[in-house]
Amino acid sequence: MVPDVHDVVIVGGGPVGLYLAALLLQKGLDVRVLEQRTVRSGHSRAIGIHPPALAALEAVDAAEPLLREGVRICEGLARSGGSTVAGLSFARTSATHPYVLSVPQLRTESILARRVYELDPSALRYGERVLDVHDDGDRVRLCANVDGSRREYTARLVVAADGARSTVRDRLGIDATLRNYPDTYLMGDFRDTTSDGPTAVLYLEPGGIVESFPLPGGVRRWVVHTDALLADPSAELLAALIRRRTKVEVPPESNTMLSAFSVRARLARRLVTGRVALIGDAGHEISPIGGQGMSLGWLDAAALAPILTAAVGGHPTAEALRHFDLSRRRAALIAVRQAHLNMVLGRPLAGPVLAARNRMAGLALGSAHLQDLVARRFTMQ
Ligand SMILES: Cc1cc2nc3c(=O)[nH]c(=O)nc-3n(C[C@H](O)[C@H](O)[C@H](O)COP(=O)(O)OP(=O)(O)OC[C@H]3O[C@@H](n4cnc5c(N)ncnc54)[C@H](O)[C@@H]3O)c2cc1C
Repeated sequence: MVPDVHDVVIVGGGPVGLYLAALLLQKGLDVRVLEQRTVRSGHSRAIGIHPPALAALEAVDAAEPLLREGVRICEGLARSGGSTVAGLSFARTSATHPYVLSVPQLRTESILARRVYELDPSALRYGERVLDVHDDGDRVRLCANVDGSRREYTARLVVAADGARSTVRDRLGIDATLRNYPDTYLMGDFRDTTSDGPTAVLYLEPGGIVESFPLPGGVRRWVVHTDALLADPSAELLAALIRRRTKVEVPPESNTMLSAFSVRARLARRLVTGRVALIGDAGHEISPIGGQGMSLGWLDAAALAPILTAAVGGHPTAEALRHFDLSRRRAALIAVRQAHLNMVLGRPLAGPVLAARNRMAGLALGSAHLQDLVARRFTMQ
């Protein structure tokens, strides 16, 4: 059989692969996205879309539908022992999007997949799991499993957007540094019983942090720091932990998503090798605490798309690729450090030490200059 030949094959149809596909299809490139799943996972992971990512999504007409559905989080509050410790406004972080938009990842992926379909109905191939990759120097060959049979693809360029356990990264022998953190969390979505509306709230309590974020449809996401990874979590247990630490009652029967997770930071040692580039979680896995992974991946894609377009047009791109590799790994490192700081701040702390730290945080955020600095950090600017 003569294999298909394409300008760019993207491995992985998660949020990052889909966004890159839309960018490249708009430029007229011949693109295929190979996605192993046949049905999108209903398990919501990312909810926060940061201002630079919203600006990037405008380029593929995806920002508007997301803004119609999402909740605009314009400020965050830190509470402890029933009192407000500090507030953080995002009002001065961006002229166009002074907020973090909250939308379940499943909806975000659906909107991006629809955009890809509008641009080329045959671009997105579900149920195709890439098993192997060979860079021949002037072409890249991929082998995928489709319903138990093998299908070969040939591409001028390949982009791995196949997530943290990237097959492409492994097959090409690209090393990644891996750091496992001791922190573990239990997360769940419940009907919103608070009066916090679109405000994000962090409860800094001696037993560990409790985070609470608004979601569309009168739902709130709760994330609780736990002593260990819970093997058999339940909505009742999460509700009890929330009640004990914050005095907020969440109705267990309204739970729609529950997940216990531990956290890692994984950084590929390079994002480009030959005719293959890594983007999104394939290149850098960031702790979800701080929620920057998906936005970071979209910004990788926005940086890579013009380079791929130039390469397909026959222009030299070696210098641009070097810059992409360096600048995107640097951006990932900043996000890793930010997430590390967020996790440390959320660890259990003895009451008096916690009270002293909270007082200092309150004083520091009383300064407009420091408040702007922190708000910009939280919104990836
Ligand atoms: C609990 C949690 C909360 C989070 N919250 C946030 C947040 O608020 N904001 C934020 O920005 N980020 C957040 N993140 C991180 C975010 O979910 C990820 O950074 C994002 O999903 C990465 O997108 P991706 O497309 O790179 O990878 P993925 O979403 O992992 O997508 C990879 C895709 O590739 C497919 N695939 C894998 N291997 C193959 C193969 N061999 N062949 C074909 N297809 C393959 C997979 O099926 C998948 O669809 C959170 C993560 C977690 C776990």
